[in-house]
Amino acid sequence: MVEILPNFKLVRPKTVEQAVAMLARSESAKLCAGGTDLIVNMRHGLSDVHTLVEISQINEMQELDLDDDRLRIGAGVTLNELARSNEIAKSFPAIHQACVAIASPNHRNCATVGGNLCLDTRCLFYNQSHWWRKSNDYCLKYRGTICHVAPKGNRCRAAFAGDLAPALIACRADIEITGPQGKRVIALKDFYREDGADHLKLNSDEIVTAVSVKSTAQNSAYKKITVRGALDFPLAGVAVVCNQTPDDGRSFSIAITGTNSSPVVIDVPELKKDDNRQDFFSALGNLVKKSVSPQRTTTIAAHYRRLSIAAITVRLAKTLSDEGSK
Ligand SMILES: Cc1cc2nc3c(=O)[nH]c(=O)nc-3n(C[C@H](O)[C@H](O)[C@H](O)COP(=O)(O)OP(=O)(O)OC[C@H]3O[C@@H](n4cnc5c(N)ncnc54)[C@H](O)[C@@H]3O)c2cc1C
Ligand code: SF4
Repeated sequence: MVEILPNFKLVRPKTVEQAVAMLARSESAKLCAGGTDLIVNMRHGLSDVHTLVEISQINEMQELDLDDDRLRIGAGVTLNELARSNEIAKSFPAIHQACVAIASPNHRNCATVGGNLCLDTRCLFYNQSHWWRKSNDYCLKYRGTICHVAPKGNRCRAAFAGDLAPALIACRADIEITGPQGKRVIALKDFYREDGADHLKLNSDEIVTAVSVKSTAQNSAYKKITVRGALDFPLAGVAVVCNQTPDDGRSFSIAITGTNSSPVVIDVPELKKDDNRQDFFSALGNLVKKSVSPQRTTTIAAHYRRLSIAAITVRLAKTLSDEGSK
């Protein structure tokens, strides 16, 4: 069945201040960056947007700076621009690997970093055509009253499945947000909440303007499992940053996507030089299994996603800790 894009008004601010004012003017105004997620959802009848605030002309959001102190990525930087940076690929492998794992080269030409961080949550019962959802009485996330995944629950379990967020969180990124009251900066890990229907701590008149990471040498990687070999959202994905400690141990920073309504940060103890490695990595696998809570939001069983993400996390952590000793 053909799904027609609803009518909307398009406004194109040239500064962040203009964009904030345009958002504040109407509750049904929404930011549009690359549109690769938003427009698809609008065609499915998944939002009541009447005004699109299109932000590709805001030059201050397109800047990508890497110096000795910090990597700062404007929210309007496209994923292909990010992927093309050899310095980022070398210094922040997890960020590069997550970026090139997103959708396809065509999508990445217009999809942006800000759009990826603010990606809507996903669910088998939500990312469907309007007639399909209507015939199922909609659901709690939009227009309905019950959740088909957890009918006895009172919140939406749709999963956050953005690839960049875990990589940036594992690198301990900060996110810059601008609203009518000015700019605020928070740790990216604190930007999300565990509610599939309201997963961003962002007011409707606020804009994500940039994300930044401290420039320190790191050993890192990102890996995801998908149904298809390419052009697919993560069923689960993990970013691991592993650093050598002064006494030749290993510290880990780990974040997971695709299993919960927000990225999951895994609090891992340090691997000491004299620790038994097998015990350490077996405990890490169990910790991951306990920390994530995949639900019946994809065609693939939640149990499989839980076991797979634990196995991938352990594999990446082992490989990175071995590389650090070369
Ligand atoms: C076939 C297909 C495959 C895909 N595969 C993947 C995948 O493998 N991994 C993945 O992560 N994504 C995937 N996506 C989703 C999407 O393409 C990407 O997440 C993309 O990065 C979204 O960026 P965008 O600029 O297009 O966002 P948009 O669609 O423009 O916006 C997405 C959301 O973010 C909000 N937003 C945008 N910019 C800002 C900002 N600066 N501040 C505040 N809010 C903002 C918008 O209002 C909207 O709610 C896929 C999409 C398709 C169609
Ligand atoms: S988890 Fe439940 S409420 Fe959320 S989108 Fe899926 S069916 Fe709807």
